[in-house]
Amino acid sequence: APSAAIMQEREAGDSPPPAPRPAPAEMVPLLDYNKLQYTRQVLGKGTFGKVLKATYGDHGFVAVKLMDNAGKENSMKREIIRLHTYGSGSEHIVRFYGYTEFPKLGYAMEFMDCGSLDDLLNKNKWLEYRIDHVFSWLRQVAQGARYMHSVGLMHRDFKPHNLLLRDRYLVIKIGDFGEVGEVKQTMTNCKGSAPWMAPEVFKGKQYSTACDVYSLGIILWQMITRRQPYPGITAYTILWNTAQGARPKQVDCHPLLWAMIEKMWAMEPGERPSMDNVVEYTCIMMK
Ligand code: ADP
Repeated sequence: APSAAIMQEREAGDSPPPAPRPAPAEMVPLLDYNKLQYTRQVLGKGTFGKVLKATYGDHGFVAVKLMDNAGKENSMKREIIRLHTYGSGSEHIVRFYGYTEFPKLGYAMEFMDCGSLDDLLNKNKWLEYRIDHVFSWLRQVAQGARYMHSVGLMHRDFKPHNLLLRDRYLVIKIGDFGEVGEVKQTMTNCKGSAPWMAPEVFKGKQYSTACDVYSLGIILWQMITRRQPYPGITAYTILWNTAQGARPKQVDCHPLLWAMIEKMWAMEPGERPSMDNVVEYTCIMMK
């Protein structure tokens, strides 16, 4: 059962889990199969399988993530329970509607009509935006992440691909809970993708919520420059170089903004601002 999978992840003798407690599996809403109508549109491909556009009763369009990769069932069940339990706690986490077991394990979530931040930064380059948008996206993502941190979770896989946009690109939300981990556990397992992975995670040291702040610092640099942080460099070399202190090149932006970026990707996790600080500084800079 999915709830058993969560229990396995928590080590015996650990302090109690953060509130709110994960809901028992039987409370996660099961989608009514008759109300779910798939369209032909594939919205994306992920680690589990495909994300399809569908309609669900009077919810209108929804995005359904379906699993193709047998053997990853427990991690998808864990993602479903966490999205259900914590997803509604912040406006900046994608809405979860329910899960399905037939024909495959999967779940329906809010349809994000502008796609991912990765699409915007790397594919739809003709679409222009201003620095005000960057501040607004940063504040929204940091608010979602601040909520996750406040309930004892860390995302561990922040990257433009996992941030989804809607409403003419004005609203951005965290769209994936696939690598979420609990802060209470002593985490040393390496999770995430090279350009956004904090050095302490790569080095196999104990890490905590500051790893998400590092990732958001790299994403912020990408939002400003619309460039790849380390073009043409292999994952291992990126990890090795960033562990030695290499970071993306300085950009022409407000000195206070640059100062915050440098703090966010500081080598020492303790020197990075908290997500709460990031929200606060961003609100100040937006004024
Ligand atoms: P995984 O984390 O398993 O790799 P993702 O959740 O990142 O999969 O989904 C893959 C892609 O599918 C995303 O980058 C995005 O383009 C698209 N996608 C995912 N969820 C939605 C959604 N709710 N609305 C619209 N597009 C989505």
